[in-house]
Amino acid sequence: MIEVTLLGTGSPIPDARRAGPSTLVRAGDQTFLVDCGRGVLMRTAALGVGANAISALLLTHLHSDHIADLGDVLISRWVSNFAPNQPPLPIIGPPGTAEVVENTLKAFGPDIGYRIAHHADLTAPPPVEVEEVTDGVVWGRDGVAITVAPTDHRPVAPTIGFRIEHNGASVVLAGDTVPCPTLDALAAGAGALVHTVIRKDLVDAMPMQRIRDICDYHSTVEQAADTAARAGVGILILTHYVPPIAPGQEDDWRALAATVFDRQIEIGEDLHRVEVHPGVCARQG
Ligand SMILES: [Zn+2]
Ligand SMILES: [Zn+2]
Repeated sequence: MIEVTLLGTGSPIPDARRAGPSTLVRAGDQTFLVDCGRGVLMRTAALGVGANAISALLLTHLHSDHIADLGDVLISRWVSNFAPNQPPLPIIGPPGTAEVVENTLKAFGPDIGYRIAHHADLTAPPPVEVEEVTDGVVWGRDGVAITVAPTDHRPVAPTIGFRIEHNGASVVLAGDTVPCPTLDALAAGAGALVHTVIRKDLVDAMPMQRIRDICDYHSTVEQAADTAARAGVGILILTHYVPPIAPGQEDDWRALAATVFDRQIEIGEDLHRVEVHPGVCARQG
C-alpha cells in the first residue's frame, strides 16, 4: 500500500486554510516529500512527521509556490537530526535544482553560521545530495522504485513528474503541466494520479490579465480528468486548486472531473489522505 497525503492544496494565492503545494507519499518505511510549498512543515507536524523523517525531497519544478519552504525543510532537518554523522538529504529535481538549493543555503548562511558557532555538535552546514533529472529511474531502495518523465509547463522548463511504485501499488505525481504524451506514458495504469488543476471558467472571469495568463500552462479539472482516463488510472487526486475551492464547492469541482473520468475522484482539504492499494482502491480521511 502507498499512502498519499495532500499536505498543501493551495497555490501561489495565499489562503488562510490551504498551505502551498506539497504532497507526502509514504511507501513501505520510506517517506517522500513532493514539493515544499508554504507551510509544509506545519502540515507534516500535524501528521507527527518531522523534517528529519523525510527519505527524499522530490521537486517537480522550481516555481516559487512549489519550493517556498525549501529553506525551512533544509534548516529544520539539519537542526533536528542528532546523529553524529548526519546523512545528506537526497533532493531529486529538474536541472536548475542544485543552483536553487545552493542559493537557498547561501541565503541562510548567517543562520547556519550562528548554529555552528553555538552548538558544539553541529560542525558542518546542512548536508544535501542533489540529483538533477528529466527522465528515467531515479530511485531504487528497499522495494521502492521512482521513475521520472518530462511534463509540459512551458515556458517553465524543464519540469518533471514522478511515478512511485511499491509492492504493486503505484502513484504518479504530475505537478503543474498541460496534458502531454510523456505524462500519459508515466501515468499509464497507475493506481493513482495526483494532478494540479485550475478552473479555467473561474480564472477567465478574473479582472487581472496576469492571473488569466496562468491558464495557458496548467491543466483544467477536465483536462486532468482526461489525462487520468487516457492513462487508465484507478484514482484521480486533485490538488493545487486555483482559485481556492470555496467551502461547500467541492462537489462542483468533482462533478466537472466526473464528466470525463468515471472512477474514484479525490478532492479535499489539507491533510486529506488516500490509500492506494495494488489493484484495489480505498479512501480514508
Ligand atoms: Zn508551476
Ligand atoms: Zn504551481
